[in-house]
Amino acid sequence: MSAWRDRFLADASAWRAAGLERTRRVVRPVSATAVEIDGKLITAFASNDYLGLSQHPRLIEAIAEGARRFGAGSGASHLVSGHHAVHDALEHELARFAGMPAALACMNGYVANLALLTTLAGEGDEIFSDQLNHASIVDGTRLSRAAVKLYPHADADALEAQLKSSRAAHKLVVTDAVFSMDGDVAPLRELLWLAERHDALLVVDDAHGLGVWGPEGRGSVRALGLDSERIVYMGTLGKSAGLSGAFIAADRLIIERLIQRARTYVFSTAASPALAHATITALELIRSAQAERARLAAHRDRLQEASPAWRPYRLLPSSTAIMPLIIGGNTETVRIAEALLQMGLWAPAIRPPTVPAGSARLRITLSGAHSDDDIERLIAALSQVIDRAAVPQA
Ligand SMILES: *Cc1c(COP(=O)(O)O)cnc(C)c1O
Repeated sequence: MSAWRDRFLADASAWRAAGLERTRRVVRPVSATAVEIDGKLITAFASNDYLGLSQHPRLIEAIAEGARRFGAGSGASHLVSGHHAVHDALEHELARFAGMPAALACMNGYVANLALLTTLAGEGDEIFSDQLNHASIVDGTRLSRAAVKLYPHADADALEAQLKSSRAAHKLVVTDAVFSMDGDVAPLRELLWLAERHDALLVVDDAHGLGVWGPEGRGSVRALGLDSERIVYMGTLGKSAGLSGAFIAADRLIIERLIQRARTYVFSTAASPALAHATITALELIRSAQAERARLAAHRDRLQEASPAWRPYRLLPSSTAIMPLIIGGNTETVRIAEALLQMGLWAPAIRPPTVPAGSARLRITLSGAHSDDDIERLIAALSQVIDRAAVPQA
């Protein structure tokens, strides 16, 4: 053990010295936007629960009702005996929600991306991946054994040049629809056009678009009205949907291939039927959350309007619920986040390796459940904290 211990201790102290050490804050939810930490009430701008559904009474009741009606656990993988009627009903609803021919429910978005990328592409194929894609996409591309080309962030022209020079018979383009740390969006229409020109699949990870964007919150692809058998849509259910889980919606041929071959699907126990039942309710709640989506947009506009006061720090332009305030240095970012926390406000410090070195930030996430007063308190606190901040260190 001692050589291992020495190594782990040395790694841990280097990690700490670089300002990379994370601490998990133990939270007790008080409402959709407030948590108790060490007995103190904190308003959080830290969650991806963009519509406040995680604390919605109907959703909470749906989990309880689902467990009473269908049981607490599924008992087996989908291909053995774990595919309950309620899972089947959910997949039908997910396909309808996404406006796609078929859907497959998955345990979470991380696993869904591994399933997609390892099942749709393999040795001899080529995957084109945006350089800021989520870690689960990065890991999926690595596991796939396909050749991987990163293209410059959201740069359709650069992607086109790469596609043109590719000699792979099977090409796959993969992108976050909304980038999780920057809050900006992919040029999906251009990417689809390129996929069509170059006979590629287009995998769209809509973890942060679903619920927030599009008619009835049905996500980025529906927002743009894109229809193509080349689109493979991945939506997650742990963010706006307020639960946990994910799904893949696509052409039937693709969904059937995943059912047959995706190892994360075949060799894993099906999710609780109670969760599947609740997810059907979550989809209904998302569709009817027009007021929450409108409030979210108003909060975003208000924050944007107040942001010049926080110079030299820069609030990235966003059309989503993710509003990153770029600080730069790790230590400075943590210091500002701590000062906010002292004032009862929580906007997490996001540091490398989650974001590129030198671009540490406060990742402010808004929810339709935030009140106007929550937003004003955040604005006032940021102005006060930043006013007192030293010149930013690199
Ligand atoms: C959160 C996230 C995932 C992972 O989804 P989980 O359901 O949390 O595992 C995948 N992709 C993106 C872009 C995400 O933000």
